[in-house]
Amino acid sequence: MDIEKIKAEVYRPSRAVVTAGMPYANGPVHIGHLAGAHVPADIYARWMRMLIGADRVLFVCGTDDHGSTSELAALQAGKSIREFLDGIHAKQKETLQRYGVSLDTYTGTSRPECFPVHKDIVQDFLKRLDHNGMLEKRVSRQWYDPKLQRFLQDRFVRGECPNPKCDNKDAYSDECDRCGASFDPSELKNPRSALSDAIPELRDTLHWWLDMWKVSEELRTWIQTKEKKWRTGVYREVVETVLPGLRFDHVHEARYKELKETLPKHKSKYAAGKKIALTFENKADLLKGQHMLGEQGISSALIDGWAHRAISRDVGWGIPLPSEFGPEAQGKTLYVWPDSLIAPISFSTVALREKGLDAQQLKDFWCDPDARIYQFLGVDNVFFYVLMQGAMWLGTQADINRLPLKGEYQLNDVFSCFHLLVDGEKMSKSRGNFYTGDQLIDEMGYSVDQVRHYLALLSLPEKSSNFDFKHFGERNRFLAGPMNAAFEKPIAACHSKFEGRIPEGQLLDKVVQDTEQMLKRYFKSMEKGEFSTLLYAMENYARLINSLFTQHKPHDDRAPEQGRKDALYSCFYVLKNLMIMLYPFVPHTMEKLRDSLQLGPDVFRVEELGVPMAVGHAIGAKQEYFPAVAVES
Ligand SMILES: [Zn+2]
Repeated sequence: MDIEKIKAEVYRPSRAVVTAGMPYANGPVHIGHLAGAHVPADIYARWMRMLIGADRVLFVCGTDDHGSTSELAALQAGKSIREFLDGIHAKQKETLQRYGVSLDTYTGTSRPECFPVHKDIVQDFLKRLDHNGMLEKRVSRQWYDPKLQRFLQDRFVRGECPNPKCDNKDAYSDECDRCGASFDPSELKNPRSALSDAIPELRDTLHWWLDMWKVSEELRTWIQTKEKKWRTGVYREVVETVLPGLRFDHVHEARYKELKETLPKHKSKYAAGKKIALTFENKADLLKGQHMLGEQGISSALIDGWAHRAISRDVGWGIPLPSEFGPEAQGKTLYVWPDSLIAPISFSTVALREKGLDAQQLKDFWCDPDARIYQFLGVDNVFFYVLMQGAMWLGTQADINRLPLKGEYQLNDVFSCFHLLVDGEKMSKSRGNFYTGDQLIDEMGYSVDQVRHYLALLSLPEKSSNFDFKHFGERNRFLAGPMNAAFEKPIAACHSKFEGRIPEGQLLDKVVQDTEQMLKRYFKSMEKGEFSTLLYAMENYARLINSLFTQHKPHDDRAPEQGRKDALYSCFYVLKNLMIMLYPFVPHTMEKLRDSLQLGPDVFRVEELGVPMAVGHAIGAKQEYFPAVAVES
């Protein structure tokens, strides 16, 4: 049967780690988190469990505890950091559980079950990076509070925005969230400390910087294998960053044009600051091109700013730099970004322990080329999860100038999600369109699955999407109407006309053909994490049940009997497939349907797709699946 062939062709990793973007530990889980990270990641994790088995999947997440954001939030709440974080964490965990986000662990980087292992893993990373020459020390200027005698992180200094067209008196030290300008901290006007009434001053401080340029060719080689696999926006952003480039003053334009044909293959464009920028296909070509330009008196600079980032901070609340880094590292901690990139490895260790499994299994998940790491994150974080993380992973290897071997950290796959708008606008408390995950359930009467279904439908992979309450209501009327009917009709007919047992019948040709098409589509979309159009395709597949009822009337004794039996037998076939396919999206409702169909809990497996229910199988009672919600207009 073709369906067996279709199933056999689905790509199955040996193991899978699924992660969802880590919420800062400073507020509740809101529908932006759920739409952009946790619900899609949960759908993917459930799909992976159906595909390769639950014991081969780790779905991990936790709070991003460290750094000045949580420190400041705790301070403002008048609580100790631990007390503050514990309160936030407990609430977030509860909301995620309510939404059926089936994490193997929801921990946090500073939590007692995680911190010791996280610290070990982080410090091991830092020592390996240092050993491989991936870290460099640089002195920079940083705000300092003379009264409290401590350096002040970005968020601890506020002042007037230096943009003359902007009147924001409360800008951050390096960016203004009103006009969007970013600037050097020394440009901030009338700076003030957020921790005391002191006027902060800029002082020299030493930091460790990650040198991603050292592995940029390996990053490029790896990223270029993902052109067809990753979402277009992700691929384009990272490949354009990592392709090697240089720039020179545009006064050299005429000379450059004479040389252009003789240079290695490249693209040119005008760049800011009266410059011309050239992008080459690889580093060897770049260096050759730079040399040839130099010989003709055109001096150029590498475009490598992206590849050098400070990864330490003068913050007490974080993972300390290893003592091997010497006395100048004292009091400094790892910046929260690299901290949070390593965190899923630590979370996986916690999850294995909580599942009673051997911590040695970590390597089977993270260091095996046949395993996969799938990370769901916001579109703004792609740089970190691809380039910084890739460079850090490569930087731990015995040889940094090649892609990872078995036994070394494998590079991951990323699924970025765009922002969620609510009623056409960016979510914000001041606009009154800010919704926590709990509000939609508690105050509006929706079932968790109805919200999950709508969030999956919003297609955040492709663009910013709008949580529009009118559209949400329409979709729910479909679920509570035609979708429920597709579930209920076969069950009702089976009880009223066939003594509650599946009749002896045969699959109708059209049903088989439609199922083949549906499954192909399903596997393709699930692998890519593209759920929106897939949900509409599944709606059409559900309509097949309604059309079989119209055509063959299994509920009506006057219709020809064999046709009725074949149709009802086929309906249960469609229903079982639909139930399995919808399970990752609306698990609570599909558990109810499974109960009605009296199938075992292990039915939620890819192997069960396309396998008809047995003739004579007893069917249970129908239930309320998707509740009808009265929506005020
Ligand atoms: Zn501004």
